Amino acid sequence: MEYRQLGTTGLRVSMLGYGASPLGGVFEAIDERDGIRTVHTALDLGVNIIDVSPYYGRTAAETVLGKALRGVDRSSYVLATKAGRYDTDTFDFSAARVVASVEESLARLGTDHLDLIQCHDIEFGDLDQIVSETLPALRVLQDEGKVRFVGVTGYPVAALTRVAAATDVDTVLSYCRYTLLDRALLDAAPALDAAGTAVMNASPLGMGLLSDRGAPDWHPAPRAVREASAAAARLCADRGVDIAQVAIRFAAEPPVFATTFVGTADPGNMARNVRWALEPVDPALIAEIEQVLAPVLGYTWPSGRTEN
Ligand code: NAD
Repeated sequence: MEYRQLGTTGLRVSMLGYGASPLGGVFEAIDERDGIRTVHTALDLGVNIIDVSPYYGRTAAETVLGKALRGVDRSSYVLATKAGRYDTDTFDFSAARVVASVEESLARLGTDHLDLIQCHDIEFGDLDQIVSETLPALRVLQDEGKVRFVGVTGYPVAALTRVAAATDVDTVLSYCRYTLLDRALLDAAPALDAAGTAVMNASPLGMGLLSDRGAPDWHPAPRAVREASAAAARLCADRGVDIAQVAIRFAAEPPVFATTFVGTADPGNMARNVRWALEPVDPALIAEIEQVLAPVLGYTWPSGRTEN
C-alpha cells in the first residue's frame, strides 16, 4: 500500500480508502457477513481510512461497520463519519442535531472518538449556517476529544472551496468529481492542499457507472452518460481489461488526493481494488477511453440548493 499525508492533520492514510456506504445496502441488498469480511480484507491489505455516514442505509452502514471493527486495534485505522444528512431529503445542520448525531455515531461504531467528522453534503444546507454554527459546534467536540478533525463533503466543488476559504476545515471530500468522466476536483485540489486542507476523492467508479454492471436506477446521471460509460466498459472488455481497474487507478493516482474512497461489500472486489489502485494502466488505453467519453466529459447533475 502507498500512504499519503492527510493534509496538516499529521495522519498518514492509504491512497485507497474504504467507503462503507455499500454496507448500508445502498447499491443492493448485502450479506452482512460478506460486508464484515470486506472491511477485514481492506484492513488486512493496508487500507487504513474508512468513510461512512448515518445516512447510508439510514444508520445500517454504521451499525455493520461497528460490528466489523469490534476487536480491531482502534489506533490502526482512521475512522471518518458525517453529520447533517439523514435521509434523501432530510438535512439538519443545527448545532444541537450534529452534536447529538456524533454521540449516536459513536455508539453505533463502538468507539469513544471519531478521527474525522464531516458535514454531509453541504450544498443542501445554508452555507452561512455551516460556517457560523455547524463547524464551530464540531470544533467544540474536537476540544472535548470526541473528534480529532473536522471536514465538509459534497458534490459541487465550488461550495466546498467557498466554505474552505471562509473558515478552517481540515478536509474536504467530493465524489464523482475526479474520474474518467470528470476532472473538477483535480482543478481545485492544489489550492486547497496548499492552504492546508486535505482533499479526499470519492466514488472512482462514478457510483457504478464505470463498472461492467453499470449504475443503479437511482443514479442521477442521464442516459447519455450511462450509454457512453457502457461503451467505454465494452471497449475495455474488448481489450481484456475490466473498466473498474482503469477507473480506480485513474482516480487514485494524483498525489494531491490524500485518499480515494471506493465502496464495495464484496471481499473479492476489495482485494482487486487494492491491487488495481497500485498498478499503472496503459496510457494508450486511457486515451482510447477518453475518446469514447469525450462527448459527456465533465457533465454534472444538479445537487443541492441552486444558490450553492
Ligand atoms: P464507487 O464509485 O466507489 O462505486 C461503488 C459501486 O461500484 C458499488 O456498486 C460497488 O459494488 C461497485 N464496485 C466496487 N468495486 C468494484 C469492482 N472491483 N468491480 C465492479 N464493481 C465494483 O461509489 P461509492 O461507493 O458511492 O463511493 C465510495 C465511497 O465514497 C462511499 O462508500 C462513501 O464512503 C464515499 N462517498 C461520500 C459521499 C459524500 O460524502 N457525499 C458521496 C459519495 C461517496
